[in-house]
Amino acid sequence: MKDFMESLKDKLKEKGYKLTPQRRATLDTIIENQGKHLSTEEIYDMVKSKCPEIGLATVYRTLQLLDELEIISKINFDDGCSRYELNTHEDDHQHHHLICLNCGLVIEVEVDLMEALEEEIEKNCDFKISDHKVKFFGYCSKCK
Ligand SMILES: [Zn+2]
Ligand SMILES: [Zn+2]
Ligand SMILES: [Zn+2]
Repeated sequence: MKDFMESLKDKLKEKGYKLTPQRRATLDTIIENQGKHLSTEEIYDMVKSKCPEIGLATVYRTLQLLDELEIISKINFDDGCSRYELNTHEDDHQHHHLICLNCGLVIEVEVDLMEALEEEIEKNCDFKISDHKVKFFGYCSKCK
């Protein structure tokens, strides 16, 4: 994680930004809650307990900046709020999300499984695929 913070500092510096305590606290919160897909409001509540003086607008801007730098990615589960997760891969393809329509549970599927489809699209559409966001809607083991 130390190397990660170092590379993050470099990325911010390249763009003329500093790793301020607020930015650090925001990112720490996302790292500590990896796999939870926190919403902007949830992140704000948690960051506030570490940096009581921080405002929602600062957290909002920080998330946008980290998203721009591809350190985190924004995900939308069609539940009316923006959620974020850490970008754990550099050039790798994003994992898929299974979303339960009944209880809202989100399960991550780490395997890509899209190779055949990607190959087909790249060939037929003359398009180079670098990533994808796939959501499957259905019912989890408890709700089905
Ligand atoms: Zn893929
Ligand atoms: Zn469920
Ligand atoms: Zn995820």
